[in-house]
Amino acid sequence: MSAKNNHWKNFIAGQWVDSVETLAIENPATGEIFATIASATVSDVEAAVIAARNCVNQGLLSHCRPAERTALMLRIAHEIRAIAEQAVELVVLENGKRLKDAKDELAEAARYFEYYAGMADKIEGTSIPLGTDYVDYTVYEPQGISVQIVPWNFPVSICARSLAPALAAGNAVIVKSPELTPLAMTWLATACQRAGLPTGALSILCGDGPTIGGALVAHADINQIVFTGSVPTGRSILHAAAERAVPSVMELGGKSAAVVFADADLDQLIESVYWGIFFNAGQVCSAMSRLLVERSIYDQVIKRVRDLAVGLTLGPGIDNCDLTPLASAGQQRQVLQHCQQAVAQGARLVTGGATPKSMPGYFFEPTVFCDVSAEMDLFQQEVFGPVIAITPFDTEQQAWELANGTDYGLVAGIFSKDINHCLRGIRELKAGQVFVNEWYAGGIETPFGGTGLSGFGREKGQEALYNYVRSKNVAIRVAASPD
Ligand code: NAD
Repeated sequence: MSAKNNHWKNFIAGQWVDSVETLAIENPATGEIFATIASATVSDVEAAVIAARNCVNQGLLSHCRPAERTALMLRIAHEIRAIAEQAVELVVLENGKRLKDAKDELAEAARYFEYYAGMADKIEGTSIPLGTDYVDYTVYEPQGISVQIVPWNFPVSICARSLAPALAAGNAVIVKSPELTPLAMTWLATACQRAGLPTGALSILCGDGPTIGGALVAHADINQIVFTGSVPTGRSILHAAAERAVPSVMELGGKSAAVVFADADLDQLIESVYWGIFFNAGQVCSAMSRLLVERSIYDQVIKRVRDLAVGLTLGPGIDNCDLTPLASAGQQRQVLQHCQQAVAQGARLVTGGATPKSMPGYFFEPTVFCDVSAEMDLFQQEVFGPVIAITPFDTEQQAWELANGTDYGLVAGIFSKDINHCLRGIRELKAGQVFVNEWYAGGIETPFGGTGLSGFGREKGQEALYNYVRSKNVAIRVAASPD
């Protein structure tokens, strides 16, 4: 495979497989189609499941000594770092993001393999005392075939996030790649192949979500579903999972709030606002899409956020511009609709709110709304674009209520120098992760996942490894001695 290829194939059972139907891949910075990829069929799904089942039944990963899996994971990480230079441009081309962020995404993918390499030989059970006539212990066994469905915003790192712990625990994995950005992910298959991953332990298929993703999640021979994507798709996958009680991890959307107190360091806050809502053009599940600000500094914060927004350079990711395009025309339309609706419902537009004039591709102006109240759609609904909603609060209690006042609960943030504000907030906020004084202060080592409509289960960190195993308890009665 070469980064200059303009036709890409699916990776099934150790082979690169073509298809009659193809999907066109656009560069969101220009709107031009620059590549195609084979669109998988339902027979491809069947072939991937058969290969994965053979891998599981023969114990190609699960029967080897754990230390061998550790070594394999480290070789995969090494191969990802080796191909990163070739793959990075593709990440920018298909997704639109900044070159430096694309480099970070590939490095993060390698880090997942290094991190879980260190855990592959430490999946230890426990011994449970039941008295002298019994021996009791638990062992952790891999789930079997793990189906992993990936969204388009961080395709390489989100793929690695679930793939690495699943392989480290000895599972076979079938990945459904996103229709908008499937190309760079194929390099993960190349890295795994070069590292010597057994045939069938990984297949990566791209195709229509309901058809190919739907066939995978409804397949009678799979053992686990890991889904990262939108709430409606997650809901439909959960129906399929319920049919056969397939264990699932759901990483869904968010409408996360940062709570800013009057004593906050505003320079630190503004740095976080860039990362929170303008990084990756705001197409981040854990984006800081709401800013709740203590009334005494409300006008000051609005001005600082506005100044940040109007100072951003818009342009292609390859030039490392501050604000890169949205991933598709559909995404651009949706973001515009959210902004028009916000204006219609009475939110005050501070800056932005439109597609920039005379720019090709799918750019959207950095957008700041204030006076956004809890009843408005902009307060409640995920926009998935560079749009921040600012709301004032008067009391600490009101701040927590506003922050918790949506159906989501992915992450939350507190900006304050007062440890008591922070500790009370940590206790009160309904979220899977709380950032204090720096948005995205966590890393691949810190468990991540939501509550409410943001889903359930945790990815990242040691905790995530236990998604990919199930425990078996062994209870043994020791017979009495005959003499
Ligand atoms: P999406 O739900 O439209 O698609 C996600 C994946 O599901 C794609 O690969 C798609 O092809 C597949 N799919 C679609 N219909 C399917 C079906 N019926 N059965 C099986 N698979 C199907 O989401 P998206 O637009 O790609 O991503 C944006 C959403 O993802 C946002 O809501 C965002 O918040 C969320 N997200 C969450 C996280 C997280 O970790 N919590 C990370 C990134 C994105």
